[in-house]
Amino acid sequence: MQDLLKRRKHGLSRNGPPSKYLLSSMIQCRNCGRSITGQTSYGGRKKEYRVIYRCKTHKKDVICKTKPINALYLDDFVLKNIAFVLRVSNVKHLQQIINDKLSELSLVLKQNIQKSEDKIIEYGDEIKLITKVIANSRKNTELILNEQMYEYIEIISELKDENKKNLTDLNTIQSVYQKDLKIKQTYYRNILSKTSQRKSVLKLLIHKIYQDEKNVSININLKSFLEIELYSDLMYVIKQDRDLIAKKKLYNNFDLDEKESII
Ligand SMILES: [Zn+2]
Repeated sequence: MQDLLKRRKHGLSRNGPPSKYLLSSMIQCRNCGRSITGQTSYGGRKKEYRVIYRCKTHKKDVICKTKPINALYLDDFVLKNIAFVLRVSNVKHLQQIINDKLSELSLVLKQNIQKSEDKIIEYGDEIKLITKVIANSRKNTELILNEQMYEYIEIISELKDENKKNLTDLNTIQSVYQKDLKIKQTYYRNILSKTSQRKSVLKLLIHKIYQDEKNVSININLKSFLEIELYSDLMYVIKQDRDLIAKKKLYNNFDLDEKESII
């Protein structure tokens, strides 16, 4: 644990000075797939300079349906939600979410492993068939059949690799015991309370923020709370109406500086 914390701390310092925009490089447009970046813009209801996050497609001739959003409000929304997840009083809830997601994932992995094994058998049979045909055929068909066979061999090898990862994940999940969840929570919470390091902790905790014309979703990377390595993603999604965030009608009741008992 200590080593891991040290490594993470080291990782944090490598991120350099904080960027001008808290969520830059974290937001992606769901409509066009491009990144949504921070910029200063003149306008809004009060007709003044303000910082906004805007889909990059707007910089070209093509117009994307995703509307820009006031950066202060989106920052606020994300920070408050992350702070909420990191609250001491929410540790059990977080643990429940992680356990549920882990069981879900292990089911999916089991299904995928079964599917891949079936496919491996199928392709194996095809290869046997081709081998027979080649043995009895004239030369001009051999080349095509050989290519086909190599393609199948490659697919089988890919499926086996994928299965190896899935099996590793499955075994890892089965041995998970989340005794360190509170320590991780406290660790992230402490960094989040330091304004200069907020961005780095958000980058660790947030896989991606997606925005389209209707919603904003924060995809929280639950693996950042676990002491295990997984090939698979483990995500928790917080979804909210874009217009409500833009009007700052939400989440005004969480206070980042709230005094919480440190474990
Ligand atoms: Zn877009």
